[in-house]
Amino acid sequence: MFYTRFNTKRINVGDVCIGGGSPISIQSMTNTNSKDAKSTIKQIKQLEDIGCEIVRVSFPDFESVCNIHKIKKNINIPLVADIHFDYNIALEAIKQGVDKIRINPCNIGPDEIFCTLAKEAKNANIPIRIGINSGSLKMSNIQRDEIRAEIIVNTAIRYINLLEDNNFENIIVSLKTSDVYTTVEAYKLFAEKKSYPLHLGITESGSIFTGTIKSSVGLGIILYNNLGDTLRVSLTADPIEEVKVANYLLRSMNLRRLGPEIISCPTCSRCKFDLIKIVSEFEKEVFDIKNFKRLFKPVKIAIMGCVVNGPGEAKNADFGIAGGEKFGVLFKNGKVIEKVENSEWIKKLIYIIEHY
Ligand code: SF4
Repeated sequence: MFYTRFNTKRINVGDVCIGGGSPISIQSMTNTNSKDAKSTIKQIKQLEDIGCEIVRVSFPDFESVCNIHKIKKNINIPLVADIHFDYNIALEAIKQGVDKIRINPCNIGPDEIFCTLAKEAKNANIPIRIGINSGSLKMSNIQRDEIRAEIIVNTAIRYINLLEDNNFENIIVSLKTSDVYTTVEAYKLFAEKKSYPLHLGITESGSIFTGTIKSSVGLGIILYNNLGDTLRVSLTADPIEEVKVANYLLRSMNLRRLGPEIISCPTCSRCKFDLIKIVSEFEKEVFDIKNFKRLFKPVKIAIMGCVVNGPGEAKNADFGIAGGEKFGVLFKNGKVIEKVENSEWIKKLIYIIEHY
């Protein structure tokens, strides 16, 4: 099933379109020291290799921001500068040719400074992401989630109105908190009021385990409400993991056909071989960055432990294996094509994806 997206303005970030019916793009953020251009470029290249479409880099000072030109020359995806506190650094980022500025207007200084920044962004024809983050607002945990969401949205709208008064509409908006319910409410409320593209995220969501669950729940609900034009899954982990999770999140919701979809059963006493090991090794192989270009294809693969649900699920997938004690039955588009020894499953499935 494909959803009808909430219609937003279309904004260009480098050569990637955000909003206005464009595919939901995947972003991540580097965690190298941006004073070190070499290691930052290296990490961005790795992110490109796993499917990141826009990358954000934090530039905390002048030494780092002066690397923008060099970084941009060596990467293939749009570069977003994350700037806080000092608008002079933001001005330098624009001068260096960055593709978008992300600022939290609550910490960049008085309104006049914010407007000057918008004027320079307009001259350079680049968008600004108004990134409101609950951490920078005066809110209390004892306030109801709806009230907190309203404070976030009203803050964003105050700054957007200021930009609009200065004829600047090249805007993307994020309204992030670390609380799922508040974040969902904020995005829903904002969409009732303005039609700028939405950058989604649950901020500070945690490690690979907790952050993946929290982000999937939060972003999943927002996406199910037809909202969201670009996203970052924020994890306390290697940013490569953020991109992997984002890929599979969009894949799971059929919002983008990114990479293989794997269906596998939980196993039970009917399963007579180590399916858990097979599936985990297969997944490791398929989602490994070194195999990304070779195996990242939109194919649906079922790996099932026995003939009870196995053939049914395997038939609904593009390919599937329904297991037996020593060998499994391989299906292609619902038809049995051969028997495969259990020890050969991974090799066989990899071969199938490679030639899909
Ligand atoms: S497919 Fe078979 S082995 Fe897997 S959970 Fe179902 S009954 Fe058990």
